Amino acid sequence: MGQSLSGGCLCGFVRYDAIPKENTAYYCHCRDCQIGSASAFTVAIFSDEQSFRITSGEVATYATVADSGRKLERKFCQKCGTPLIWTGEGFPGTVLISLSSLDDPEAFQPVHEGWTDSAVSWSRISADVKSFPGRPVRG
Ligand SMILES: [Zn+2]
Ligand SMILES: [Zn+2]
Repeated sequence: MGQSLSGGCLCGFVRYDAIPKENTAYYCHCRDCQIGSASAFTVAIFSDEQSFRITSGEVATYATVADSGRKLERKFCQKCGTPLIWTGEGFPGTVLISLSSLDDPEAFQPVHEGWTDSAVSWSRISADVKSFPGRPVRG
């Protein structure tokens, strides 16, 4: 178990606390993450549902189906739209958190990348990161 970390959205309306699981940060290159993050990919860390807590503000939810075919909820700040967390059938009991939204985005180094089949040619990730063409296999 790691230590409790905090983070939040761009405008400061939503703040959260979480105890991220160690060594689980990863890049997601799926099309939805590209569009939903206005970037080339998202970087997510994992936290148990019980240790994740919204301490102020409220998130809005966009429910969708991921490339894996599983239901996914993308949650973002109601006021500024910053993507913050994801929950879904593919990872029950777990909250995925945007690494960028942590107060210290250097707290974790991503260890793998997933859905590289849809990665854009103009973003390059370090060769030290383990790549998966689809859903990453963790561990
Ligand atoms: Zn906000
Ligand atoms: Zn994705």
